[in-house]
Amino acid sequence: MKVEEPALSTPSFVELIEAKRDGATHASEEIALIVRSFSVGATPDYQMAAWLMAAFLQGLSEYETVALTDAMAHSGEMVDLSGVPGRKVDKHSTGGVGDTTTLVVAPLVAACGVKVAKMSGRGLGHTGGTLDKLESIPGFSVEMSVERFVEQVRDVGVAVIAQSPEVDPADKKMYALRDVTGTVPSIPLIVASIVSKKIAGGADAILLDVKVGSGAFMKDEAHARRLAGALRVTGAKLGRRIDAVMTDMDQPLGRAVGNALEVREAVETLRGDGPEDLDELCRVLAAKLVLAGEGAEDIDDARYRVDDVIASGEAVESFRGWVEAQGGDPRIAEDVSLLPSAPLTRDVRAGGTGFVARIQAEETGRAAMVLGAGRATKDAVIDPAAGVVLAVKVGDRVEDAEQPLAVLHGTSEEALDAAEERLRAAVTLSPEKPVIPPLFHELLGADNAPAGEI
Ligand code: URA
Ligand code: CA
Repeated sequence: MKVEEPALSTPSFVELIEAKRDGATHASEEIALIVRSFSVGATPDYQMAAWLMAAFLQGLSEYETVALTDAMAHSGEMVDLSGVPGRKVDKHSTGGVGDTTTLVVAPLVAACGVKVAKMSGRGLGHTGGTLDKLESIPGFSVEMSVERFVEQVRDVGVAVIAQSPEVDPADKKMYALRDVTGTVPSIPLIVASIVSKKIAGGADAILLDVKVGSGAFMKDEAHARRLAGALRVTGAKLGRRIDAVMTDMDQPLGRAVGNALEVREAVETLRGDGPEDLDELCRVLAAKLVLAGEGAEDIDDARYRVDDVIASGEAVESFRGWVEAQGGDPRIAEDVSLLPSAPLTRDVRAGGTGFVARIQAEETGRAAMVLGAGRATKDAVIDPAAGVVLAVKVGDRVEDAEQPLAVLHGTSEEALDAAEERLRAAVTLSPEKPVIPPLFHELLGADNAPAGEI
């Protein structure tokens, strides 16, 4: 006897696309189905692309965003850090120019006794990412198994590695598709992408640095605030503490933009000799992480500990131990001249006088990229030594036309010429003293303002 199939209650993928196209809200099982069928290859790219565009245009509710995040987080291996004593923390920046913070904050927090477990993506950007910066340290390896990652977090207190292909594979596939279908800049899709990776990465508490300004993904404060609020709400619904800060990315952070140049800047900052903006941002981020990791009683105590480990030299020692654990030359913690250096340098002279009114971050990033510090295409090879070191910051006064605005580091006169042109376009001198942009636009977190809506 032939057994009747039960009536199909599971919608087909095309029905899900149509539902989203027409503005319907999916049930969480439907979202799970979308993610699962796409990750296992049962749904072709063109259908997923159509659904992503429908989601981009119609939006996703808070409920749908949480379901999407959860489904993506569970699409592969979930890193289990429960065997490592204490609370583990992770930080993530939405990206910017010369954002050297992870190199400073990770060992700084570890020096305060809170364990840091971070997986980092390899984005395509006008400057190198954190992984490129770390790889400019001779011998440093960012590739390791999840097992070894967990061991290093336990034994050394800090590990920063490349995103494992086994962790959140759905995001990898979805991001590749979003990248070529105009569906990246959607707040719910960005939230699901970031938070799913962080949840699968296993940390108990996560700090997100949402960058605002010309060099950031979010060019204005209103969008950045919505993103920060949505990130926090989604984390909270999935049982992870997510704090967020909104910080400035209108001018590059610190002075160095370029991989080994930023490692040098990071070492200086860990010694307490870093540029003022990078120094303050790193101390604030580290204090928030120490508090979230329950390494301090309150935020003032956390900040005291952070300041203390910088002053005592424990922060640099922590950096040294971390570099050594990942195969890098630990001597760079004392002697930054062991880092790769470029054969050619050139001062870019001001050519006029006045106040530095603007240093456009994106354009400075492009100057560093033409020198070889970033990738113009996905497979381009990075020059670890190349980049830009700014000699001025917004608000500085240039009194002499011969005064340098920046030093360029590169390998050919042609590249230096092209970079010089870009750098000149990035910097604006003005007779009037400019308003200096605030470093912190907003602090959001359990100890700060309430979360916004998605
Ligand atoms: N960064 C991510 O990891 N995902 C996005 O969607 C955007 C930025
Ligand atoms: Ca920098």
